Amino acid sequence: MSNRPLLNRRLAGMGTTIFAEMSALATATGSINLGQGFPDTDGPEEVREAAVRALREGRGNQYPPGPGVPELRQAIVEHQQRFYGLGYDPDTEVLVTAGATEAIAASLLALLEPGDEVIAFEPFYDSYAACIAMAGATRVPLTLRAPDFRPDLDELSALITPRTRLLLLNTPHNPTGTVLTADELSAIAALAVEHDLLVVTDEVYEHLVFGASVHRPIAALPGMRERTVSISSAGKTFSFTGWKVGWVTAAPELVAAVRTAKQYLTYVSAGPFQYAVAEALRLPDTYFATFRSELERKRDLLDAGLRTAGFEVYEPQGTYFITTDVASFGEKDAYAFCRALPERCGVVAIPNSVFYDDKEAGRSQVRFTFCKQDSVLEDAAERLQRLRA
Ligand SMILES: *Cc1c(COP(=O)(O)O)cnc(C)c1O
Repeated sequence: MSNRPLLNRRLAGMGTTIFAEMSALATATGSINLGQGFPDTDGPEEVREAAVRALREGRGNQYPPGPGVPELRQAIVEHQQRFYGLGYDPDTEVLVTAGATEAIAASLLALLEPGDEVIAFEPFYDSYAACIAMAGATRVPLTLRAPDFRPDLDELSALITPRTRLLLLNTPHNPTGTVLTADELSAIAALAVEHDLLVVTDEVYEHLVFGASVHRPIAALPGMRERTVSISSAGKTFSFTGWKVGWVTAAPELVAAVRTAKQYLTYVSAGPFQYAVAEALRLPDTYFATFRSELERKRDLLDAGLRTAGFEVYEPQGTYFITTDVASFGEKDAYAFCRALPERCGVVAIPNSVFYDDKEAGRSQVRFTFCKQDSVLEDAAERLQRLRA
């Protein structure tokens, strides 16, 4: 064999995701895993039963239609109408994907040319950097900085060049919990319109916003509908992250472009689960309200435990995650801290530093998830008190 590296240069250095690394560490050390964001309690029983029924009745056991089963596309349209007053055509403006992950990949592969620039918030959700790279495009980070993690809109404006093709948004934002305000969204939309940019927006935490924060889809703003690809997924909203049912809503030309890439990635997926997610999306408002208040309560539980243990805590407005700073322990390197934490305390967390290009900005930030049972959060909080010694 030649000396040529096997992994192509677009993916060089991307190695194994931090979640795989830290989850393996959790298993090896028997630690409580507050690293990867997946619930340790499954979603609603009736939704699980709907999946079983679909399997038994032979719905979705063979290749479902490329754009997704009609029942689910209709339910997605109703959901967008019910929560945001956004109207979409189920036949031409909706595409079901293998989770939000495939929706992101297909959108970026479809819409970018090599050499295009993509502006995205950092810390990045890890698949963004990889998908931008696979598309041959260049990522341009807009750094969200502690303690508030608000986007600097003058900086955003200054980052736009003639090569900028697309803004990749994520609100509520993983890992910082930032929820974009109406003013921030208006300013971003104005820039997108002025510079004729596409917007891809990852809204998988749309139902997890706390306190007075409100999730607003940028697609609802003037001039945005025709340039925005909105992405969401059932995983986080219904606590079935293993089902991998996601979706895109956008204008017909955008959906057609994304579908072209998507059909050669998975073609289709998750047949019976698509029927179950259609039922989930039609759950009454009380489901969504209860889910949100439960997670907000869990956030507060972990938040209090982290503060008592001595972490500096940045309270999130949404998502599954709390970002902390470990500089308060005299620690400078979040990655080293996270590698040592299982030995020290029997808890696994994720270093945010790996999600930044600007290594200085996230150097001592550590992320914990709170989508776990109360007893697990309480146990983890107690173990973390050892750091005070
Ligand atoms: C979990 C997550 C995803 C992935 O969603 P899937 O539906 O599991 O593919 C995408 N974006 C963000 C920000 C996430 O946290």
